[in-house]
Amino acid sequence: MTVAVVLYTSDLRLHDHPPLRAALSSCDQVVPLFVRDRAVTAAGFAPPNRLAFLADCLADLDAGLRERGGRLVVRSGDVVAEVCSLARESAAAEVHLAAGVSAYAHAREDRLRTALEAEGRRLHVHDGVVTAVAPGAVRPAGSDHFAVFTPYLRRWSELPLRAVAPAPRAVRVPEGIGSEPLPARAAVTGLSPGLARGGEDEARRLLARWLRTGVQDYGAAHDDLAGDATSRLSPHLHFGTLSPTEAVHRARGTGGPGAGAFVRQLCWRDFHHQVLAARPATATEDYRSRQDHWRRGPAAEEETEAWKEGRTGYPMVDAAMRQLRHEGWMHNRGRLLAACFLTKTLYVDWRTGARHFLDLLVDGDLANNQLNWQWVAGTGTDTRPNRVLNPVRQGLLHDPEGRYVHRWVPELAGLDAPRVHEPWRLPGPERARYAAYPDPVVELADGLDRFRRGRGTA
Ligand code: FAD
Repeated sequence: MTVAVVLYTSDLRLHDHPPLRAALSSCDQVVPLFVRDRAVTAAGFAPPNRLAFLADCLADLDAGLRERGGRLVVRSGDVVAEVCSLARESAAAEVHLAAGVSAYAHAREDRLRTALEAEGRRLHVHDGVVTAVAPGAVRPAGSDHFAVFTPYLRRWSELPLRAVAPAPRAVRVPEGIGSEPLPARAAVTGLSPGLARGGEDEARRLLARWLRTGVQDYGAAHDDLAGDATSRLSPHLHFGTLSPTEAVHRARGTGGPGAGAFVRQLCWRDFHHQVLAARPATATEDYRSRQDHWRRGPAAEEETEAWKEGRTGYPMVDAAMRQLRHEGWMHNRGRLLAACFLTKTLYVDWRTGARHFLDLLVDGDLANNQLNWQWVAGTGTDTRPNRVLNPVRQGLLHDPEGRYVHRWVPELAGLDAPRVHEPWRLPGPERARYAAYPDPVVELADGLDRFRRGRGTA
């Protein structure tokens, strides 16, 4: 009887899962394992929203495995020690794992390989599980990664994707392998009240609905904040309950008008992953330093608090920040605006904002979050690093009727558009009716001036 361990990380699915398929084809029995990694928790990467979503994903994965005669084994501790001890217990000759992109994932692979090989076992690391195209699969001449999106998109689009693999019919797990109880969503406190539900079933239901009813209008409607016309698949792509390869194939298969625009966004996801894989330090360091002198001190801290709490006095920014707190998710246009406001109007370090997003976002992802923050801050791959989004003009463009603001900023209920985007301009008596809503923390022109001086572009 031959046994393989499949170590699940951010690939919590049964469909289109190369590590599981490889393990099933080379061994008689498989131990599907998830380790609640102490190092991930200690590094602050397991905040309540993602812990709760993870609990849903693990419960669903376990249910899917049970339908196929198997089950999920859950352990806690140091991931390398747990995998080695389980491999010993089950006499597994091989361990399968999806390749990761962060410095931590690379170190985990190296440590696992060394520890397993010392015991005569083999580690198999699979590409194309967490991203549709593996980092490094396309490269420009003379570099290990693309720093500009458009040429990356061209090469990415030309690359043939592997076929989507079906979920296995049966998974046989050896007898007598102990598991801790699955973590429960109900045991997690401090969640966002509007947090989405996790799990592969939910991911597949959402994708099917999106391709049936949403994707056609994506090109035209994706920036309409109130319309909420994006897929909301990001947490599923982050936890791997949805295969990005399958999402690309199925979107292309619709042949509809919005599919191209949607697939382009999936390519952005791969783009940021290949940057992080090649430059792991960009999780915390500028990809391109602009010699910034970010503001610090009590005034900057107070304004950052106002930003976090959604009371900057700019309704679009505040609506977005309140959506984040309520749902653990934010519309992309809101993320762009909120991040731009923090880094270029308040001129506060992108790392402060990225940390706050990671604490709340259910899709909080090192590659996508840090590198999008850097893109907005102008320290990343944006070819126009000093552009600044004006929250009033953005409101007029992307929330022309003020419905998004009304949804999240009840203090401004009843105030019509376009005035809802600039309540501080209301004449005195009328402004008094909305007095519960604060005045701007800073004038936009003053913020811009400060940013330009700080960055040395004034
Ligand atoms: P859709 O518009 O339906 O797009 C489909 C998928 O494409 C998304 O689910 C996502 O996987 C991918 N995608 C879309 N836009 C981007 C993008 N700009 N960069 C990379 N991938 C993209 N996305 C995350 O998944 N995790 C994060 O932590 C994250 N942090 C961000 C922080 C900032 C400051 C900004 C500006 C963007 C961030 N994004 C992040 C990217 C983007 O905002 C979200 O992926 C998107 O809003 C998720 O909603 P959706 O699934 O409805 O996206």
